[in-house]
Amino acid sequence: MTHRRTTEVTPAADGSGGGSAAQPNRRAEPQPAAGLPHISPDHAATVHRLVVDWFQENARPLPWRDPEASAWSILVCEVMSQQTPVSRVLPRWSDWMERWPTPADLAAAPASDVLIAWDSLGYPRRALRLQETAAAIVERHDSIVPDDEATLRTLPGVGAYTAAAVTSFAYGRHAVVLDVNVRRVLGRVFAGVEHRPASLTAAERRWASALVPDREHVVWNAGTMELGALVCTARNPDCAACPLLEHCAWVAAGKPSDPTVARRTQAWAGTDRQLRGAIMRVVRTAYGSAPVPLRFLTAPTAHLTAAEADALSALPAPLQTAVSAVRELDAGGERTARLADDLVRDGLAVSTENGLRLP
Ligand code: SF4
Repeated sequence: MTHRRTTEVTPAADGSGGGSAAQPNRRAEPQPAAGLPHISPDHAATVHRLVVDWFQENARPLPWRDPEASAWSILVCEVMSQQTPVSRVLPRWSDWMERWPTPADLAAAPASDVLIAWDSLGYPRRALRLQETAAAIVERHDSIVPDDEATLRTLPGVGAYTAAAVTSFAYGRHAVVLDVNVRRVLGRVFAGVEHRPASLTAAERRWASALVPDREHVVWNAGTMELGALVCTARNPDCAACPLLEHCAWVAAGKPSDPTVARRTQAWAGTDRQLRGAIMRVVRTAYGSAPVPLRFLTAPTAHLTAAEADALSALPAPLQTAVSAVRELDAGGERTARLADDLVRDGLAVSTENGLRLP
Protein backbone atom coordinates (compact mmCIF):
# COMPACT_ATOMS: atom_id res chain seq x y z
CA MET A 1 0.00 0.00 0.00
CA THR A 2 1.23 3.47 -0.66
CA HIS A 3 1.11 6.64 1.32
CA ARG A 4 2.10 10.23 1.17
CA ARG A 5 3.47 11.90 4.27
CA THR A 6 4.62 15.47 4.28
CA THR A 7 7.44 15.02 6.77
CA GLU A 8 10.27 12.61 6.56
CA VAL A 9 13.41 11.92 8.49
CA THR A 10 16.61 12.25 6.50
CA PRO A 11 19.18 9.64 7.43
CA ALA A 12 22.51 10.78 8.80
CA ALA A 13 25.64 9.98 6.90
CA ASP A 14 26.36 7.24 9.39
CA GLY A 15 22.99 5.70 8.66
CA SER A 16 21.72 6.33 12.16
CA GLY A 17 18.44 7.85 11.06
CA GLY A 18 18.64 11.55 11.93
CA GLY A 19 20.26 14.12 9.69
CA SER A 20 20.07 17.29 7.71
CA ALA A 21 18.13 18.03 4.55
CA ALA A 22 21.26 19.70 3.23
CA GLN A 23 22.77 16.38 2.29
CA PRO A 24 22.66 15.35 -1.36
CA ASN A 25 19.68 13.23 -2.34
CA ARG A 26 21.63 10.09 -2.89
CA ARG A 27 22.91 7.24 -0.84
CA ALA A 28 25.91 5.01 -1.27
CA GLU A 29 26.27 3.94 -4.84
CA PRO A 30 24.06 0.90 -5.49
CA GLN A 31 26.19 -2.19 -5.40
CA PRO A 32 25.81 -4.98 -7.91
CA ALA A 33 24.10 -8.12 -6.64
CA ALA A 34 23.61 -11.47 -8.32
CA GLY A 35 21.64 -10.78 -11.50
CA LEU A 36 21.18 -7.15 -10.49
CA PRO A 37 23.30 -4.52 -12.18
CA HIS A 38 25.38 -1.68 -10.89
CA ILE A 39 23.37 1.57 -11.05
CA SER A 40 25.18 4.88 -11.39
CA PRO A 41 24.17 7.63 -8.97
CA ASP A 42 23.15 9.89 -11.86
CA HIS A 43 20.92 7.23 -13.35
CA ALA A 44 19.34 6.56 -9.97
CA ALA A 45 18.84 10.30 -9.36
CA THR A 46 17.09 10.73 -12.71
CA VAL A 47 14.70 7.90 -11.96
CA HIS A 48 14.07 9.24 -8.45
CA ARG A 49 13.10 12.65 -9.79
CA LEU A 50 10.73 11.19 -12.38
CA VAL A 51 9.03 8.89 -9.89
CA VAL A 52 8.65 11.60 -7.25
CA ASP A 53 7.22 14.10 -9.75
CA TRP A 54 4.88 11.50 -11.22
CA PHE A 55 3.61 10.46 -7.81
CA GLN A 56 2.93 14.01 -6.74
CA GLU A 57 0.75 14.45 -9.82
CA ASN A 58 -0.88 11.05 -9.95
CA ALA A 59 -1.20 9.59 -6.47
CA ARG A 60 -4.68 8.37 -5.66
CA PRO A 61 -6.27 10.43 -2.88
CA LEU A 62 -6.62 7.60 -0.40
CA PRO A 63 -7.56 8.43 3.20
CA TRP A 64 -4.55 6.70 4.76
CA ARG A 65 -2.37 9.07 2.74
CA ASP A 66 -3.69 12.02 4.68
CA PRO A 67 -0.74 13.52 6.58
CA GLU A 68 -2.91 13.36 9.69
CA ALA A 69 -3.58 9.63 9.34
CA SER A 70 -2.52 7.87 12.54
CA ALA A 71 0.24 5.28 12.65
CA TRP A 72 -2.40 2.81 13.81
CA SER A 73 -4.58 3.50 10.78
CA ILE A 74 -1.58 2.98 8.52
CA LEU A 75 -0.69 -0.29 10.23
CA VAL A 76 -4.30 -1.48 9.77
CA CYS A 77 -4.19 -0.47 6.12
CA GLU A 78 -0.94 -2.33 5.53
CA VAL A 79 -2.26 -5.53 7.09
CA MET A 80 -5.53 -5.33 5.17
CA SER A 81 -3.76 -4.61 1.90
CA GLN A 82 -1.64 -7.74 1.87
CA GLN A 83 -2.76 -9.56 -1.28
CA THR A 84 -5.97 -7.52 -1.36
CA PRO A 85 -6.76 -4.71 -3.84
CA VAL A 86 -7.42 -1.16 -2.68
CA SER A 87 -11.00 -1.25 -3.96
CA ARG A 88 -11.83 -3.97 -1.45
CA VAL A 89 -9.73 -2.56 1.37
CA LEU A 90 -11.13 0.98 1.29
CA PRO A 91 -14.68 0.35 2.60
CA ARG A 92 -13.47 -2.15 5.21
CA TRP A 93 -10.69 0.16 6.40
CA SER A 94 -13.10 3.10 6.71
CA ASP A 95 -15.59 1.08 8.76
CA TRP A 96 -12.80 -0.39 10.85
CA MET A 97 -11.21 2.95 11.72
CA GLU A 98 -14.55 4.45 12.63
CA ARG A 99 -15.24 1.57 14.94
CA TRP A 100 -11.77 0.91 16.36
CA PRO A 101 -9.77 4.12 15.94
CA THR A 102 -7.09 3.05 18.43
CA PRO A 103 -5.29 -0.20 19.28
CA ALA A 104 -7.09 -0.23 22.64
CA ASP A 105 -10.49 -0.17 20.91
CA LEU A 106 -9.63 -3.17 18.78
CA ALA A 107 -7.96 -5.06 21.60
CA ALA A 108 -11.18 -4.84 23.63
CA ALA A 109 -13.50 -5.98 20.81
CA PRO A 110 -15.08 -9.46 20.72
CA ALA A 111 -13.30 -11.70 18.20
CA SER A 112 -16.63 -12.38 16.47
CA ASP A 113 -17.11 -8.64 15.79
CA VAL A 114 -13.58 -8.44 14.42
CA LEU A 115 -14.14 -11.34 12.04
CA ILE A 116 -17.48 -9.94 10.87
CA ALA A 117 -15.92 -6.55 10.23
CA TRP A 118 -13.10 -8.18 8.29
CA ASP A 119 -15.91 -9.32 6.01
CA SER A 120 -14.56 -10.99 2.89
CA LEU A 121 -11.08 -9.46 2.74
CA GLY A 122 -9.67 -12.97 2.73
CA TYR A 123 -7.06 -14.64 4.91
CA PRO A 124 -9.18 -13.92 8.03
CA ARG A 125 -6.38 -15.03 10.32
CA ARG A 126 -4.98 -11.59 9.57
CA ALA A 127 -7.91 -10.11 11.49
CA LEU A 128 -7.13 -12.10 14.60
CA ARG A 129 -3.42 -11.38 14.32
CA LEU A 130 -4.19 -7.69 13.99
CA GLN A 131 -6.22 -7.88 17.17
CA GLU A 132 -3.29 -9.62 18.90
CA THR A 133 -1.04 -6.85 17.60
CA ALA A 134 -3.43 -4.25 19.02
CA ALA A 135 -3.29 -5.96 22.42
CA ALA A 136 0.52 -6.11 22.28
CA ILE A 137 0.72 -2.41 21.43
CA VAL A 138 -1.52 -1.60 24.38
CA GLU A 139 0.31 -3.89 26.82
CA ARG A 140 3.91 -3.45 25.76
CA HIS A 141 4.05 -0.03 24.07
CA ASP A 142 1.66 2.15 26.03
CA SER A 143 -0.84 2.11 23.13
CA ILE A 144 1.64 3.74 20.75
CA VAL A 145 2.56 2.02 17.48
CA PRO A 146 6.37 1.54 17.59
CA ASP A 147 8.35 3.66 15.15
CA ASP A 148 11.27 1.35 14.43
CA GLU A 149 11.33 -1.75 12.29
CA ALA A 150 12.94 -4.04 14.85
CA THR A 151 10.28 -3.36 17.47
CA LEU A 152 7.46 -3.51 14.96
CA ARG A 153 8.66 -6.95 13.91
CA THR A 154 8.18 -8.26 17.42
CA LEU A 155 4.42 -7.70 17.04
CA PRO A 156 2.25 -10.68 16.06
CA GLY A 157 2.05 -11.12 12.30
CA VAL A 158 4.15 -8.05 11.47
CA GLY A 159 6.80 -9.02 8.95
CA ALA A 160 9.59 -7.17 7.19
CA TYR A 161 7.36 -5.49 4.63
CA THR A 162 4.75 -4.21 7.09
CA ALA A 163 7.38 -3.00 9.54
CA ALA A 164 9.21 -1.07 6.82
CA ALA A 165 5.97 0.38 5.43
CA VAL A 166 4.80 1.64 8.83
CA THR A 167 8.24 3.03 9.61
CA SER A 168 8.31 4.93 6.33
CA PHE A 169 4.69 5.97 5.78
CA ALA A 170 3.65 6.62 9.37
CA TYR A 171 6.88 8.03 10.78
CA GLY A 172 8.77 9.30 7.74
CA ARG A 173 11.82 7.24 8.60
CA HIS A 174 14.24 5.94 6.03
CA ALA A 175 13.21 2.38 5.17
CA VAL A 176 13.33 -0.04 2.26
CA VAL A 177 9.72 -0.79 1.45
CA LEU A 178 9.74 -3.72 -0.94
CA ASP A 179 6.45 -5.20 -2.02
CA VAL A 180 5.75 -7.06 -5.22
CA ASN A 181 4.95 -3.83 -7.10
CA VAL A 182 8.16 -2.09 -6.09
CA ARG A 183 10.27 -5.13 -6.89
CA ARG A 184 8.67 -5.38 -10.34
CA VAL A 185 9.28 -1.70 -11.17
CA LEU A 186 12.90 -1.79 -9.98
CA GLY A 187 13.51 -5.07 -11.77
CA ARG A 188 12.18 -3.76 -15.07
CA VAL A 189 13.70 -0.30 -14.97
CA PHE A 190 17.14 -1.14 -13.64
CA ALA A 191 17.67 -4.85 -14.30
CA GLY A 192 15.69 -5.29 -17.54
CA VAL A 193 13.74 -8.30 -16.33
CA GLU A 194 10.01 -8.72 -16.56
CA HIS A 195 9.42 -10.43 -13.21
CA ARG A 196 11.35 -10.88 -10.03
CA PRO A 197 11.81 -14.34 -8.49
CA ALA A 198 9.19 -15.23 -5.90
CA SER A 199 11.60 -14.95 -2.99
CA LEU A 200 13.25 -11.73 -1.94
CA THR A 201 16.91 -12.37 -1.21
CA ALA A 202 19.21 -10.42 1.07
CA ALA A 203 21.22 -9.41 -2.02
CA GLU A 204 18.18 -7.92 -3.72
CA ARG A 205 17.23 -6.11 -0.52
CA ARG A 206 20.72 -4.58 -0.28
CA TRP A 207 20.55 -3.56 -3.95
CA ALA A 208 17.12 -1.97 -3.55
CA SER A 209 18.23 -0.36 -0.30
CA ALA A 210 21.00 1.50 -2.07
CA LEU A 211 18.41 2.89 -4.50
CA VAL A 212 16.35 4.55 -1.76
CA PRO A 213 17.35 8.21 -1.74
CA ASP A 214 18.34 10.11 1.39
CA ARG A 215 15.67 12.72 0.82
CA GLU A 216 12.16 12.20 -0.54
CA HIS A 217 12.52 8.56 0.44
CA VAL A 218 8.92 8.33 1.61
CA VAL A 219 7.66 9.60 -1.73
CA TRP A 220 10.07 7.29 -3.50
CA ASN A 221 8.71 4.30 -1.60
CA ALA A 222 5.12 5.36 -2.19
CA GLY A 223 5.75 6.38 -5.80
CA THR A 224 7.41 3.16 -6.94
CA MET A 225 4.62 1.22 -5.27
CA GLU A 226 1.91 3.32 -6.90
CA LEU A 227 3.63 3.10 -10.29
CA GLY A 228 3.67 -0.68 -9.99
CA ALA A 229 0.01 -0.74 -8.97
CA LEU A 230 -1.31 1.63 -11.64
CA VAL A 231 1.08 1.64 -14.61
CA CYS A 232 3.78 -1.02 -14.46
CA THR A 233 1.36 -3.82 -13.73
CA ALA A 234 2.35 -7.46 -13.84
CA ARG A 235 0.45 -8.41 -16.99
CA ASN A 236 -0.21 -5.24 -18.96
CA PRO A 237 2.26 -2.46 -18.22
CA ASP A 238 1.10 0.82 -19.75
CA CYS A 239 4.55 1.89 -20.90
CA ALA A 240 3.17 4.74 -23.03
CA ALA A 241 1.89 6.38 -19.84
CA CYS A 242 4.99 5.65 -17.78
CA PRO A 243 7.35 8.44 -16.72
CA LEU A 244 10.24 5.96 -16.88
CA LEU A 245 9.73 4.84 -20.46
CA GLU A 246 12.95 6.37 -21.74
CA HIS A 247 14.93 4.99 -18.80
CA CYS A 248 13.54 1.48 -18.64
CA ALA A 249 16.04 -1.30 -19.28
CA TRP A 250 13.34 -3.88 -19.93
CA VAL A 251 11.73 -1.74 -22.66
CA ALA A 252 15.15 -0.94 -24.13
CA ALA A 253 15.86 -4.67 -24.36
CA GLY A 254 12.63 -5.26 -26.30
CA LYS A 255 10.58 -6.51 -23.34
CA PRO A 256 12.04 -10.02 -23.22
CA SER A 257 10.05 -12.54 -21.25
CA ASP A 258 12.07 -14.50 -18.73
CA PRO A 259 11.53 -18.22 -19.22
CA THR A 260 13.32 -19.04 -15.96
CA VAL A 261 10.77 -17.21 -13.87
CA ALA A 262 7.39 -18.86 -13.74
CA ARG A 263 4.49 -16.45 -13.79
CA ARG A 264 3.06 -16.45 -10.33
CA THR A 265 -0.61 -16.84 -11.03
CA GLN A 266 -2.50 -17.90 -7.97
CA ALA A 267 -4.86 -20.70 -8.75
CA TRP A 268 -8.13 -20.22 -6.95
CA ALA A 269 -10.83 -22.51 -8.31
CA GLY A 270 -10.66 -25.85 -6.60
CA THR A 271 -8.14 -24.80 -3.97
CA ASP A 272 -8.37 -25.30 -0.22
CA ARG A 273 -8.26 -21.53 0.05
CA GLN A 274 -11.43 -21.21 -1.97
CA LEU A 275 -13.19 -23.83 0.13
CA ARG A 276 -11.95 -22.35 3.43
CA GLY A 277 -13.25 -18.97 2.33
CA ALA A 278 -16.65 -20.43 1.50
CA ILE A 279 -16.89 -22.20 4.88
CA MET A 280 -15.80 -19.04 6.65
CA ARG A 281 -18.52 -17.12 4.82
CA VAL A 282 -21.10 -19.58 6.17
CA VAL A 283 -19.83 -19.08 9.72
CA ARG A 284 -19.86 -15.30 9.36
CA THR A 285 -23.31 -15.25 7.78
CA ALA A 286 -24.67 -17.36 10.63
CA TYR A 287 -23.52 -14.77 13.18
CA GLY A 288 -26.48 -14.00 15.43
CA SER A 289 -28.29 -17.21 14.39
CA ALA A 290 -27.90 -20.78 15.56
CA PRO A 291 -24.63 -22.59 14.78
CA VAL A 292 -24.53 -24.30 11.39
CA PRO A 293 -24.48 -28.11 11.58
CA LEU A 294 -21.34 -29.41 9.91
CA ARG A 295 -23.37 -31.97 7.98
CA PHE A 296 -25.08 -29.10 6.11
CA LEU A 297 -21.68 -28.57 4.52
CA THR A 298 -20.36 -32.11 4.28
CA ALA A 299 -23.23 -34.52 3.62
CA PRO A 300 -24.22 -35.28 0.02
CA THR A 301 -27.81 -34.24 -0.65
CA ALA A 302 -28.90 -37.86 -0.92
CA HIS A 303 -27.55 -38.55 2.58
CA LEU A 304 -29.37 -35.72 4.33
CA THR A 305 -32.23 -36.88 6.53
CA ALA A 306 -35.67 -35.40 5.89
CA ALA A 307 -35.31 -33.31 9.06
CA GLU A 308 -31.91 -32.01 7.93
CA ALA A 309 -33.25 -31.17 4.47
CA ASP A 310 -36.16 -29.29 6.06
CA ALA A 311 -33.83 -27.42 8.41
CA LEU A 312 -31.54 -26.54 5.52
CA SER A 313 -34.37 -25.11 3.46
CA ALA A 314 -35.61 -23.15 6.49
CA LEU A 315 -32.34 -21.25 6.89
CA PRO A 316 -32.47 -17.49 6.22
CA ALA A 317 -31.85 -16.78 2.52
CA PRO A 318 -28.32 -15.30 2.90
CA LEU A 319 -27.23 -18.28 4.98
CA GLN A 320 -28.80 -20.71 2.53
CA THR A 321 -26.84 -19.02 -0.26
CA ALA A 322 -23.59 -19.31 1.70
CA VAL A 323 -24.22 -22.99 2.51
CA SER A 324 -25.11 -23.70 -1.13
CA ALA A 325 -21.85 -22.10 -2.22
CA VAL A 326 -19.91 -24.64 -0.13
CA ARG A 327 -22.02 -27.55 -1.29
CA GLU A 328 -21.69 -26.53 -4.95
CA LEU A 329 -17.93 -26.74 -4.68
CA ASP A 330 -18.51 -30.45 -4.37
CA ALA A 331 -15.29 -30.88 -2.42
CA GLY A 332 -16.26 -34.05 -0.59
CA GLY A 333 -17.28 -34.34 3.02
CA GLU A 334 -13.88 -35.41 4.31
CA ARG A 335 -12.04 -32.46 2.80
CA THR A 336 -14.69 -29.98 3.87
CA ALA A 337 -14.63 -31.34 7.43
CA ARG A 338 -10.83 -31.15 7.49
CA LEU A 339 -10.85 -27.50 6.45
CA ALA A 340 -13.60 -26.72 8.97
CA ASP A 341 -11.33 -28.29 11.61
CA ASP A 342 -8.50 -26.04 10.40
CA LEU A 343 -10.67 -22.97 10.90
CA VAL A 344 -11.45 -24.10 14.43
CA ARG A 345 -7.76 -24.76 15.12
CA ASP A 346 -6.88 -21.29 13.79
CA GLY A 347 -9.35 -19.69 16.18
CA LEU A 348 -11.59 -18.47 13.36
CA ALA A 349 -14.55 -20.69 14.28
CA VAL A 350 -15.81 -22.66 17.24
CA SER A 351 -17.17 -26.18 16.98
CA THR A 352 -20.17 -26.80 19.25
CA GLU A 353 -22.39 -29.84 19.53
CA ASN A 354 -24.90 -27.96 17.33
CA GLY A 355 -22.40 -26.95 14.68
CA LEU A 356 -20.00 -24.19 13.74
CA ARG A 357 -20.17 -20.61 14.89
CA LEU A 358 -17.89 -17.58 15.22
CA PRO A 359 -15.70 -17.41 18.34
S1 SF4 B 1 8.37 1.66 -19.17
FE1 SF4 B 1 6.89 0.00 -19.00
S2 SF4 B 1 8.00 -1.73 -18.14
FE2 SF4 B 1 9.26 0.10 -17.82
S3 SF4 B 1 8.73 0.79 -15.77
FE3 SF4 B 1 7.40 1.89 -17.16
S4 SF4 B 1 5.53 0.64 -17.33
FE4 SF4 B 1 7.14 -0.61 -16.40
